[in-house]
Amino acid sequence: MGHTQGANGDGQNWSPDSWRSKPIKQMVEYEDSEAVSAALKKLSSLPPIVTPTEITKLKSHLRDVALGKAFLLQGGDCAELFSYCSDEPIDSKIKLLLQMSLVLIWGMNKPVIRIGRMAGQYAKPRSSPTEVVDGKTIASFRGDILNDFDPANRTLDPERLVSAYFHSATTLNYVRGQLASGIADLHNPLDWGLGHVRDKDLQTKYSKIVNSISESLRFMRTIGADTAGQLHTVDLYTSHEGLVMEYEQALTRSLRNPGGYTPSRKSSDGKGWYNTAAHFLWIGDRTRQIDGGHVEYFRGIENPIGIKVGPSMKTDELVQLLDIVNPNKEIGKVTLITRYGEDKVEAMLGHHIEAVKESGHIVVWQCDPMHGNTRSTPTGLKTRHFSSVFSELSSALKIHKQHGSFLGGVHLELTGDAVTECVGGSEGLAEEDLSLNYTTFCDPRLNEKQALELAFLVAGHYRE
Ligand code: PEP
Ligand code: MN
Repeated sequence: MGHTQGANGDGQNWSPDSWRSKPIKQMVEYEDSEAVSAALKKLSSLPPIVTPTEITKLKSHLRDVALGKAFLLQGGDCAELFSYCSDEPIDSKIKLLLQMSLVLIWGMNKPVIRIGRMAGQYAKPRSSPTEVVDGKTIASFRGDILNDFDPANRTLDPERLVSAYFHSATTLNYVRGQLASGIADLHNPLDWGLGHVRDKDLQTKYSKIVNSISESLRFMRTIGADTAGQLHTVDLYTSHEGLVMEYEQALTRSLRNPGGYTPSRKSSDGKGWYNTAAHFLWIGDRTRQIDGGHVEYFRGIENPIGIKVGPSMKTDELVQLLDIVNPNKEIGKVTLITRYGEDKVEAMLGHHIEAVKESGHIVVWQCDPMHGNTRSTPTGLKTRHFSSVFSELSSALKIHKQHGSFLGGVHLELTGDAVTECVGGSEGLAEEDLSLNYTTFCDPRLNEKQALELAFLVAGHYRE
């Protein structure tokens, strides 16, 4: 294994397993170590799910985002389940991300880069290792990659690591197939389904946007502006939280770099280390400790990476983190995913923007308006108010502008299905409606209508 000198100046070598020498949060303690070894051996022998060429292509797109030349839309489930690996939920998610991106392109006059929280978003950090279900204390559900949601079966099962690989690969295979077969073909009319919008003014506003997009597409088709086939399909990249280090390590490979790409950390033979499980990975807010195993792992891979930035992040800590994971200050290598909450964003974001500016790092700033705005209903259901989500996003847009910075993207928990998990939006979902179709296994997601509405509102912000 080609060990290399640590670029963060701490004199330590990095290798795909050097995270093991550091303290690690959200640790996975299996009982059967032989079964774990067998699963990891199997994973290590399987082919990459994504390739260095795709990874570096996304990285160069994110450089454009960091420089204000493009916008990043990232979305998907909080916890993706193996059972979502099925045609309908995948189709509806592709369509939703496509429609949202068209609205954003229309609003911002910039290309939009799409990343799904899918094809691998199977691991969940938990605030407590146990929970009480029907009066009994049992292990928390930690995502399909680790244990079963069924309260009767919460034991950690190493075979799930291998199953996660196959569900990721199958999901991405279907995504690739559908994209190549024209699911995102803009020659076909799109069904925007705005019938639910009760407010007349909003209905008019959204219809105008849709008509404008449809007109533009019709015009392009008529004049034959599609010579290179750009209207036939779009790119969709994959991402997940890099949480279960055993899994990520097994999918981390020393591979030849695409032409023209110089890796930031060469392995002994000049190759780079790529996490081939997803194009983009992020470090969660619970596992971003400077001295922790997750940060250690992340500093070695060539992939573009995200760091969740919650209200407890100190400004000097943020800059230290950037220096560790991106010592060469590659533009757009790191996406800072801010998630303070609507009531905290004003007090925090400006300081973070200034500190990063001063450090000389040029990052992608992305707003996750979901995770700081989770509330419980009196009956104990986790929900989020559409108005809080929009409020944090609007504040972020405003604060970036005030600081001469650019909000480069949004990070959303959403689904293409008609769930009732977040309240508010044009459909007027109330707390009493939540039980109608509350199906998330972790955090509440925007449904298709709410997600599209958020895109309309952001686009409107830029057009006004
Ligand atoms: C998530 O994105 O689902 C998540 C757990 O976020 P955070 O790390 O920001 O809490
Ligand atoms: Mn979540």
